[in-house]
Amino acid sequence: MSVANGSPYDENNIFARILRGEIPAKKVYEDDYAFAFHDINPQAPVHVLVIPKGPYVSMADFTANASDALVSGFFRAVGEVARQLGLEEDGYRILANAGINSHQEVPHLHVHIFAGRPLGPMLSRGM
Ligand code: 5GP
Repeated sequence: MSVANGSPYDENNIFARILRGEIPAKKVYEDDYAFAFHDINPQAPVHVLVIPKGPYVSMADFTANASDALVSGFFRAVGEVARQLGLEEDGYRILANAGINSHQEVPHLHVHIFAGRPLGPMLSRGM
């Protein structure tokens, strides 16, 4: 079972519902392993989310419990999305939050792809 922060995967989280087609999303890319769509509240001119097609809460959960095919297929899809969006030349940032300290809002693993402007420092200041 997929667990993060002691909680089992919530089958009704918003991204699970997007994967099931219960909630609309602006699709960017899809294959057998991954689904990519525009973030509803973009933080950059390009802000796309890529999610694996499976019930995984975090990167640690995903890499511990998903099949090799899904793990490799998902990461290939992240790169494919960046390529298809033409982001290689000007650059982009990939980010995945996990758990409380990162302010992960949706408990289904997702990779953010940000691009389209200089993205500033990687983290807010302060230790
Ligand atoms: P997190 O903070 O968990 O890393 O990021 C969750 C992201 O999901 C946020 O950037 C938020 O704007 C986005 N989001 C939340 N609900 C929806 C939704 O229903 N549709 C889409 N497209 N994005 C969503």
